[in-house]
Amino acid sequence: GIKARLDAISAIIGYKPAHAPLNFSETKPTDVFGCNVFSDKVMRERLPKHVYKSLKKTIELGEKLDASIADTVANTMKDWAIERGATHFTHVFYPLTGLTAEKHDSFLVPDGKGGAIAEFSGKLLIQGEPDASSFPSGGLRSTFEARGYTAWDVTSPAYILENPNGTFLCIPTAFVSWTGEALDKKTPLLRSTQALNKQAKRVLQLFGVETKLPVGSFAGPEQEYFLIDRNFVFSRPDLLIAGRTLFGAKPAKGQEFEDQYFGVIPRRVLSFMMEVERELYKLGVPVKTRHNEVAPSQFEIAPIFETGNLATDHNQMVMTVLRTVAKRYGMICLLHEKPFAGINGSGKHLNYSIGNAELGSLYDPGDTPHENAQFLVFCAAAIRAVHKFGALLRATVATPSNDHRLGANEAPPAIMSVYLGEQLTDVFEQIKKGKVEGSKQKGVMSIGVDTLPPLPMDPGDRNRTSPFAFTGNRFEFRAVGSSQSIAGSQVALNAMMAESLDYIATKLEAATGGDPAKLNAAVQSVIQEIIKEHDAVVFNGDGYSEEWHAEAAKRGLPNLKTTPDALPVLTSPEVVKLFTTYGVFSEAELKSREEIYLEQYVKTLQTEANLVVRMAKTIIFPAAMRYQSELAAACANLKAIGHDYKMDTLECVTAKLRDLQTKTAELEKIMEHTADGALAEAKHMCCTVLPAMNEVRAVADALEAVVADDLWSLPSYQEMLFIR
Ligand code: ADP
Ligand code: MG
Repeated sequence: GIKARLDAISAIIGYKPAHAPLNFSETKPTDVFGCNVFSDKVMRERLPKHVYKSLKKTIELGEKLDASIADTVANTMKDWAIERGATHFTHVFYPLTGLTAEKHDSFLVPDGKGGAIAEFSGKLLIQGEPDASSFPSGGLRSTFEARGYTAWDVTSPAYILENPNGTFLCIPTAFVSWTGEALDKKTPLLRSTQALNKQAKRVLQLFGVETKLPVGSFAGPEQEYFLIDRNFVFSRPDLLIAGRTLFGAKPAKGQEFEDQYFGVIPRRVLSFMMEVERELYKLGVPVKTRHNEVAPSQFEIAPIFETGNLATDHNQMVMTVLRTVAKRYGMICLLHEKPFAGINGSGKHLNYSIGNAELGSLYDPGDTPHENAQFLVFCAAAIRAVHKFGALLRATVATPSNDHRLGANEAPPAIMSVYLGEQLTDVFEQIKKGKVEGSKQKGVMSIGVDTLPPLPMDPGDRNRTSPFAFTGNRFEFRAVGSSQSIAGSQVALNAMMAESLDYIATKLEAATGGDPAKLNAAVQSVIQEIIKEHDAVVFNGDGYSEEWHAEAAKRGLPNLKTTPDALPVLTSPEVVKLFTTYGVFSEAELKSREEIYLEQYVKTLQTEANLVVRMAKTIIFPAAMRYQSELAAACANLKAIGHDYKMDTLECVTAKLRDLQTKTAELEKIMEHTADGALAEAKHMCCTVLPAMNEVRAVADALEAVVADDLWSLPSYQEMLFIR
């Protein structure tokens, strides 16, 4: 009850840091960085030269792994891990729950003489067999052979995780069924990167660009999160179980003062951040920036971008480390997209580009006209991709929690559009008209595509309301949810880009017939054609505005507002064709994903609805009832001494109590109904259950504003957000 709430507050006031301050002057950050990673340096030092070379070829050039070296690598890895205190190894994988999964096995094997020896074979390194029956497979793996296996992902390095009582070796893996179907988030990411490589190379070849490294995606995810004192969470079943508040009146002060963003970081939080960074440094995660975010108690952490697969694994580590370290500081890290209604939610800006270490980002305009033409081709491919597959991109961020954020005038709308900025839009518009005369800003461009001037992009030229914004050398996809894996959106983007690059390469190959002299004219005409057909997706204005919604509808851009609207896109004919053509997903794999994500949607809402009913009945109703009887007693007393007093507050509480009961009963009634099939069920949740939950909440929140504070046991928004 109220005591828990008051205890929580005194615990916070009396909070003393449990951890000694970290001291980077004792251990240099450069020594810490990567110290727990089976890194290139470690491999070069410890592996026989031919083994190292062979492994490098697989890691860097994407060549097939030579299985005969596996035993040597495994043995070296084991020795290295044991030196660092490891007793166990685990294949880490990324099931469709979006979480990280691990199954631990000991290195120890009995030696038959009463002792034990440490063993780790190439076979165990390459392939694992977790008991996978409890991971969602969406019908891909029938339960009688509930088996999947994990396969070593050589391109993401193994690492050691520390725990107070010991350490263990972690091996990043892909998780597939015995029939080779992807049961995870990593496998499709690797497949989509291969598809992208193939098509990007065709285009590069036309421009005479050679590169021995594969072309893939780069990703730099900016991660937002909330920190709340842990004591509060224990008296908030909604936060504890659903990760978001299902009740809670708006605080007197919200974020309207804009005093949080980039403000001084509270010191407890700063200590937390430093420890998070140190843990991540050890794991070789290149975290770079930390700052306050817009909402009270909201923060951000961002790494330096890396190749897509590594960045994805690292982002999973970031989420895990944020959660675990927060506890050491007496806090809870909330990664939910909308923990507090009426307060900005959390997202993950996925900075995305394609390229490789040799070429850099192919979305970088470059300095020469030749580079510019190539840049415009890749840029046009992105425009075409988002126009053709915007609905798919939207579907990759469709989760119940992200629904609260998209389109809530704090995150981009559910309409997928591309922001190019004034200068680049101007260049494309000129190409569309067929004559390129000059850049607006510079006024120096009097040329065709073959002699385009340098295009200095102004990265300060920002439009925060666009879901897919060009920011100088990359696109920033801002619709990803804070708790989501960044794999899904990248899989879609890679495949969409591959399809557009394939289209462009085919056109250019045909038009030039192998004659480089014909390239410029061919490039100009293909860009012109793409812009004519696809510039409806380009929008530089305010994505939050009403006008844009109307305009987007006129332009035929889909606006899939909710998860049940968006998920069926995954199995639409265009999307099935896209993914099957480039070998990223089979139709069965897509069906399984649609099914699993719909199920997750339904389960999440069921849990939330149950919580709403439970909390309304057992926490909110009793508090309001007690207050009502206090008020009634006061009225009776007054009457006894001769005042005939009609108390407004009593009337109000009585009316609201009645409402609360009615609305709660209505919600319960609605929840009894079950629809047929996952999609129908999800729609029922979305269109009927969710609004009914909100109605209960509205009454409860109104009660919170009138009921005596000392009777209200749920920590308030005020307390949770402003006490640090
Ligand atoms: P802002 O908050 O201004 O958007 P940040 O510097 O916080 O910018 O984050 C930008 C992210 O984009 C960083 O993770 C950065 O490493 C990443 N990034 C920069 N260049 C690229 C690129 N070419 N491809 C992908 N990500 C990039
Ligand atoms: Mg950003």
